Amino acid sequence: MSENHESGHDRRRTVRTRWGTAVDVGRSRATNEDSVLVEHPLFLVADGMGGHDAGEVASALAVEEFRVLAGRESLEIADLAAALTRASRRIAALAQDGGRNAGTTVALTAITIVDGTAYWAVMNLGDSRVYRLTDDYFEQVSVDHSVVQELVERGEIPAAAARHHPYRNMVTRALGAGGESDADYWLIPVEPGDRMLVCSDGLTTEVEDDDIGRILRDTDDPQRAAERLVAAALDAGGRDNVSVVVVDALTAGGARVREDTERRTAHETSEDSVADGFGDDTRPYPARGRP
Ligand code: MN
Repeated sequence: MSENHESGHDRRRTVRTRWGTAVDVGRSRATNEDSVLVEHPLFLVADGMGGHDAGEVASALAVEEFRVLAGRESLEIADLAAALTRASRRIAALAQDGGRNAGTTVALTAITIVDGTAYWAVMNLGDSRVYRLTDDYFEQVSVDHSVVQELVERGEIPAAAARHHPYRNMVTRALGAGGESDADYWLIPVEPGDRMLVCSDGLTTEVEDDDIGRILRDTDDPQRAAERLVAAALDAGGRDNVSVVVVDALTAGGARVREDTERRTAHETSEDSVADGFGDDTRPYPARGRP
């Protein structure tokens, strides 16, 4: 499933990526309710929830609605939001038609070009995650919509305890399944050598961030890196489905890729046109590990 995306002679294709992906049902679940979409410029993981086959159906529907965006040179935030709305309607219809309380997380990164500059658009709904590795740091970009995340933010439990907390699987937002379904968005300038990780909680509840970062640093090939991450989750117990997508930005063929190491979140770029359309609740990622 490893593929290289070549910019070729199409000068409109402005950022070259390569990627790898690995999925596993895990050691204790009977079915895989995760779905992944890996097609330049869009890299997505959806973790379905709900009884019977509802979770599988919901995450597959999300992938189906986003797949129509694949193959474009870049995507707009509005494209992502529209796909989310379509998926949301279809998942809600599932509940009406079949009485199935289906829901899914959605976490993704996509290449977006704004005024000739390439950005990683990051979108999150639920507790699947997007991380970014650069030469200098490895950090979580997305912020979980989960009970445990809220406890951490309120200072009620230390971040280190989150992975083992009894409520670690409880999400506070999801697509479908009732409740709130507003996604958060970030825009991060693409820097040469960036590596993005999109994954389900089957990875992050089993493997410490430090170990995830080490594997990503030590493994050049993105397909091999994805496989090693899944293997680490299985070694640690594999109690949930595990989905991993690793995306590398190789070079930029036309768009400017920022050469400096300045990082700006969507929040911080609010004076720019690129931040238009972001909701008030979009939270910048924490500035952990800043050099
Ligand atoms: Mn999961």
